[in-house]
Amino acid sequence: MTVLRSGSASDVGRVRAVNEDLALESLTLFAVADGMGGHAGGEVAARTAIDALQNEFARRQSIDGLVDAVQEANRAVYARGRADPDLHGMGTTLTAAALVATGDGDRLVLANVGDSRAYRFHESGLSQLTTDHSVAEELVARGELSEAEAAVHPHRHILTRALGISPDIDVDVWQVVPEEGDRYLLCSDGLTNEVPVEEITRVLSETRDPEEAAETLVEMANEAGGSDNITVVVLDVVVGEHEIAGSDGAAAGAAVHAASDGTSRAPTSVSPGEPTRSGVATIAPAPADASATASSRREATAGNGVVAAPSPRSAAATQTRPRVPERAPDRAPRVRGPRRITFRVLLFVIVFAALAVGAYALIHWYVDGSYFVGLRHNQVVIYQGRPGGFVGIEPRVVQHTQMTEQEVPSYKIPDLKAGVQEPSLKAAQSYVSNLQLALCSLSQPPAGLTCPPTSNPGASSAARPSATAPRTGREA
Ligand code: MN
Repeated sequence: MTVLRSGSASDVGRVRAVNEDLALESLTLFAVADGMGGHAGGEVAARTAIDALQNEFARRQSIDGLVDAVQEANRAVYARGRADPDLHGMGTTLTAAALVATGDGDRLVLANVGDSRAYRFHESGLSQLTTDHSVAEELVARGELSEAEAAVHPHRHILTRALGISPDIDVDVWQVVPEEGDRYLLCSDGLTNEVPVEEITRVLSETRDPEEAAETLVEMANEAGGSDNITVVVLDVVVGEHEIAGSDGAAAGAAVHAASDGTSRAPTSVSPGEPTRSGVATIAPAPADASATASSRREATAGNGVVAAPSPRSAAATQTRPRVPERAPDRAPRVRGPRRITFRVLLFVIVFAALAVGAYALIHWYVDGSYFVGLRHNQVVIYQGRPGGFVGIEPRVVQHTQMTEQEVPSYKIPDLKAGVQEPSLKAAQSYVSNLQLALCSLSQPPAGLTCPPTSNPGASSAARPSATAPRTGREA
């Protein structure tokens, strides 16, 4: 069993007028989309992609299901962009993480198109799992550019792959064993362009709460300039898969799909028309797509053995991120996906429910064990409960008597009106019979009162059967 806990934050930043990023957090599916396009295009593209991804993945929660869902998201954005001239040319990045059950345990599946990123944070540090589909990153992959040069390259924003540009899309896919203590970060480039990796690492290692970590990272990006929309999803593996065949201590944190052979941890890149479609399920290591990607393979620097994605040349047209001046005058609302039920929330609900049940039982024990003698419709009665009720539980009549308010000595009336509390039903009954005896000992016992023959022969029960009869059985 795998238990995840997540948090997210998204902000328009300090420069843009509209937030075209979108985060998704659900039970088993997490994503970041960074939309682009004039007018409302970017927002629509991100929303369309996230909605399609979620709907499609819900139908089939598997590795193939996630790939199909990303491809469906691409088709949805593409179709919508074609249908509406205002939205023409819109696109979005999409980085998704999904928890799926497989034959040998739970897996976290990552899928990526574009330059939003997925990182894994472990004790050993932060490692980038995805490869940007940008011109600069492809130059790095070909060894023509260093990472440092790529970070400031003028074409670093030009994407080579995005959703919505063509009807088909290649999707990079990774499969990871979710290990307890691992933390995953999905983010748009608004974070990574502003905040150095060391700073991101520091926040992830220092901030326990994923929501708080996400918010802190967004704040830091804003403090660094906030030149783009910023979106962050932090995903914690609270309870993870334990058995990892053949893993040694050092590699335990890096159980990417190829953990069994320990040699290759490249992602599988899936084209819609690829005949080896079923190969995704096993996430065949590199050889499956070697022909397409051998030239651009790049070994990762991180010591945990993760290999960055090769980028097969995509059919998608090179997409320049439009830096269109946004016209929306007001700040974009903070857009976020629906909150998922986290482990902590579940625990809270269970504890709360237990407390509520306990409190309810306690209250009933208290109320049901309480009796008092009072007046109801002019008649002296015995109630179960507390006078005036207790936390909404009204007292109820459990026994009627033959005495009326007029018959009771006047000095007893205020007590009875307030309710004479007794610790048990027996005690209440004996209070009533004492009251009754007191009345019977009067020289003129009230009519209708059944008195013992010894104390007043004239008021025997036999003498007034008709008077007492109607009062019995008048239960409330
Ligand atoms: Mn962006």
